[in-house]
Amino acid sequence: MSTTQDCIFCKIVAGSIPAHRVGENEGALAFLDVHPLVDGHVLVVPKTHVGLVADLDDEAAAAVFHLARDVTRAQRAQLGAEAVTIGVNDGPAAGQVVPHVHVHLIPRHAADGGANVHAIVSTPATRSLDAVAALLRGAGDAGGSSGA
Ligand code: AMP
Ligand code: ZN
Repeated sequence: MSTTQDCIFCKIVAGSIPAHRVGENEGALAFLDVHPLVDGHVLVVPKTHVGLVADLDDEAAAAVFHLARDVTRAQRAQLGAEAVTIGVNDGPAAGQVVPHVHVHLIPRHAADGGANVHAIVSTPATRSLDAVAALLRGAGDAGGSSGA
C-alpha cells in the first residue's frame, strides 16, 4: 500500500492515529469527521493514498462508492437521516484541505437549513452545452450534436 508519511488519512487507515471507524471493505474505510457538520457526518477514503478522484484506479473507485452506499443506508436506518448530501472537494480550488480522496456523507433533514450542491458556485456558466459536451467527449467538436 502506498502512503505519504504526513497524510493524516493514511495514518488513520494504518491505525497509527485514532478515528471513530464506522465501516470498511477491502479497499475503503469509513470514519466520523472529527468536526462534524451534523451528527453522523462520515468520511469515506480509499485505503491507498490517492489525492484526486481522477487518479483512483477501478478497484478503489468501486470500493469507495460501495462503502459510501452502505454508510448512507446506516445513516438512514440508524440516525433517521431523511436524505444524505454526498460530496467530494476534489482539489484545492474546490476546497479540498486533506490531500487524500475523501467522500463526505452528510445526513440531511428537510428543516436543517442547509443548501444543496447548486449553492456552491456563484459565477454563471458561459459556454454552450453543445461545446462543453463535445470537449468532455474528447471530440473537440464545439458544434457537435446535443445528444443526451
Ligand atoms: P476537505 O479536505 O475540505 O474536504 O475536508 C477535510 C475534512 O477532514 C474536514 O471536514 C475535517 O474536519 C476532517 N478531518 C481532518 N482531520 C481529521 C481527522 N483526524 N479525523 C477525522 N476527520 C478529520
Ligand atoms: Zn493519504
